[in-house]
Amino acid sequence: MPGTELFGAEERKEIEDVLSTGIMFRFNHDAQRNNIWKAKDFEEEARKITNAKYALAVSNGSAAIMAALAASGIGTGDEVICPPFTYIATVEAVLLLGALPVFAEIDETLCLSADGIKKAITSKTKAVCLVHMCGGNANMDEILKVVNENKLILVEDAGQAFAASYKGTYTGLFGKAGAYSFDFFKIATAGEGGIFVTNDETVYKLADNFCDHGHDHLGSNRGMENHPVIGFNFRISELHAAVGAAQTRKVPQIKAANIKHKALLQSILGKIEGVTFAKLGDDNGDSGTFLNLMLPDTEAAKRVVAEMNTVGVGGFNYWYTNMYHFINQWEHIKELKTASKLPIELLGAPQDYKNLHLPKTQEVVGRLISFGIRCTWTQEEVEALANKIAACIKKALMPVNA
Ligand SMILES: *Cc1c(COP(=O)(O)O)cnc(C)c1O
Repeated sequence: MPGTELFGAEERKEIEDVLSTGIMFRFNHDAQRNNIWKAKDFEEEARKITNAKYALAVSNGSAAIMAALAASGIGTGDEVICPPFTYIATVEAVLLLGALPVFAEIDETLCLSADGIKKAITSKTKAVCLVHMCGGNANMDEILKVVNENKLILVEDAGQAFAASYKGTYTGLFGKAGAYSFDFFKIATAGEGGIFVTNDETVYKLADNFCDHGHDHLGSNRGMENHPVIGFNFRISELHAAVGAAQTRKVPQIKAANIKHKALLQSILGKIEGVTFAKLGDDNGDSGTFLNLMLPDTEAAKRVVAEMNTVGVGGFNYWYTNMYHFINQWEHIKELKTASKLPIELLGAPQDYKNLHLPKTQEVVGRLISFGIRCTWTQEEVEALANKIAACIKKALMPVNA
């Protein structure tokens, strides 16, 4: 959890700025706030890293992805191609907007593949919600080709991929709109926070309205503002934005450390027969937040996980069985268990979610073990961890009859 490793005087100072005026609301109060605008600062820092034309800080990454979908015009009845390996927020956002998730295959990049998207397209497909998983990047050239050929809208959930890029363009900025999360587990954290990005002014303005009850944010009297659209409260507080700004300034340093540690881990573990790593669309665009080990098959991965648990090697995720990121564990989605009726229950699901045939995804996630990289590790700590992991892999992969 890199960001949280570096909490210090910078974050404290930013919070004290806000407390010094007491203005925790991001809009208005110009006379009292002593020119302190932390949400704007947070947006500016995010823009500096991603080169996005427009950034909007919001309450969390889930709100950012919902805003990205809504501002891209995705709503009731629209089929949206989604990955079956993602943080559940992606799928929730699609469902809560009344749209219909269609699950397609991922590949060794851990992201939707162009081929998977192509096979999932129907006459009702409106958009692709691409998720850049585990700090990496998807195969954008191939994906953009399919998206453009089929005149689909591309929205990117880059919740885990802030500061990752592909051939020089930052994740989140290939389609109409994108989203980053700054929750407690990401490369940088605001405690709770998210950033919506786009290069399209109209899409930005719509998101800006949508995330604050439709307010047009014109003039200095909130009570007299107009409301071009129905929206909701996805605002970020100045306190959270203050932390987000300080943390975002540290991202270049965090990313450099992550990448160095990951390279060392891979150079040691890559020598073991049977071990490979998840692919990147662009090797030079990694944010380095995860080491993504690929074992020869699911059974081998499970043996390695068991061995690491026995020995006490922590800090990893085996998404296939343990975590909330993989469709095999999404019973409530498969059963459409809802608090109150959603459009999908009236319209019907576009796929039989209980009987999805996604063999490639099952194989890839089954083989995958992801280690969270810590930016504060020393070289000795990285080497010690690599050696521990290596011993577990070797033991688990040893031929049974040897
Ligand atoms: C973390 C994450 C989110 C949700 O972000 P929150 O800030 O926790 O709401 C959405 N999508 C992906 C891919 C994520 O990893």
